[in-house]
Amino acid sequence: MPQVNGRFVPDMKSPRTPDNEEPAEERAHDFRPVDKGFTKEMALAEAERCMDCKKPLCVEGCPVNIKIPKFIEKIREQDFGAALDIIHEDSMLPAICGRVCPQENQCEGRCIRGKKSEPVAIGQLERFLGDQPELASKPQMKPANGKKVAVIGSGPSGITCAGELARNGFDVTVFEAFFTGGGVLVYGIPEFRLPKAVVKREIDGLKELGVKFEFNSVMGNLANADELLNEKGFDAIYVATGAGLPKFLNIPGENLPNVYFANEYLTRVNLMKANKFPEYDTPTKHAKQVVVFGGGNVAMDAVRTAKRLGAERAIIAYRFTTPRPRASRSCRLSRRSSSSPARTATCAP
Ligand SMILES: Cc1cc2nc3c(=O)[nH]c(=O)nc-3n(C[C@H](O)[C@H](O)[C@H](O)COP(=O)(O)OP(=O)(O)OC[C@H]3O[C@@H](n4cnc5c(N)ncnc54)[C@H](O)[C@@H]3O)c2cc1C
Ligand code: SF4
Repeated sequence: MPQVNGRFVPDMKSPRTPDNEEPAEERAHDFRPVDKGFTKEMALAEAERCMDCKKPLCVEGCPVNIKIPKFIEKIREQDFGAALDIIHEDSMLPAICGRVCPQENQCEGRCIRGKKSEPVAIGQLERFLGDQPELASKPQMKPANGKKVAVIGSGPSGITCAGELARNGFDVTVFEAFFTGGGVLVYGIPEFRLPKAVVKREIDGLKELGVKFEFNSVMGNLANADELLNEKGFDAIYVATGAGLPKFLNIPGENLPNVYFANEYLTRVNLMKANKFPEYDTPTKHAKQVVVFGGGNVAMDAVRTAKRLGAERAIIAYRFTTPRPRASRSCRLSRRSSSSPARTATCAP
């Protein structure tokens, strides 16, 4: 680690370490992860690029204010456990956030290094650490306080809340409508961007902290708030049921066969394994020509899934003419073509 007068000197010459991606033509045919993540050598090289700024704007850009230069410093020292502990002070989900957070609009979007060259690959460094959970110290648990909390929904909001409460001595039960935990992380975001094993590892970690999970439990049907509070002995309820309903376009034909809303399409494939029909019971259309309306993460996940299901032509149609649709980097487009008034684009698979 280069130093002058005892102070670390960043590597100002090296370009940003490129993502460790599978070549597009190879990855487009199956659901294996597109990005293999940084190796130790890549992480160390990237950590040298951080300038350890006095006023680190990256921290302001992070919604939970992770102490980014501090954990990067620990990476440089090769003390990966301490680096992970620093992240855990503010976020329990680094393996997930490192993969799917829109860093380019948050921490990396504010990184001072990015003003003159490419920002530090903060997300990749976070993921590198998050993928080694065994290095972290055991979380400090406060003694049980005798209070019971029901968390409804096991998406990122529910599991984050459950983890925080459990560490603070609460007795937490998560009620989840589906047969498995993770919410959109498992039924929306495809395996090639966020492997289910990563989400399962986080859920298993919560179980080790004492959080109980009740799956196949549609709250409202199974019990309402009054029953939870007055009959089942809960002191509080945290509702984390997400925003799963699609927004209808009200255009002719949207109810025709083979027109899907993205959540249904993605749930069929991601959760119900429609890509393996008839080995699994859920079917879906394996179309050769697919058009997806939208320009965010959901649209990108849908169009990339269609490609993997065998579409010869998979197109994004986007209503705005901004330079780039609103998907995060892990869903980005490879090229665009103009088609007024909306834009269409083919997507990097
Ligand atoms: C396809 C897709 C891709 C995305 N990609 C990204 C991305 O790359 N980056 C990013 O930052 N964000 C992304 N998002 C958005 C992100 O996933 C959501 O903001 C996030 O999942 C919201 O978390 P949540 O916990 O509030 O809700 P959810 O993840 O929706 O979880 C809600 C949970 O509540 C359960 N539930 C609902 N009703 C009940 C009930 N009555 N009883 C019991 N359980 C119930 C549901 O089954 C679900 O498991 C994406 C969203 C989608 C759909
Ligand atoms: S702004 Fe960028 S260079 Fe500065 S501390 Fe944060 S990650 Fe490092």
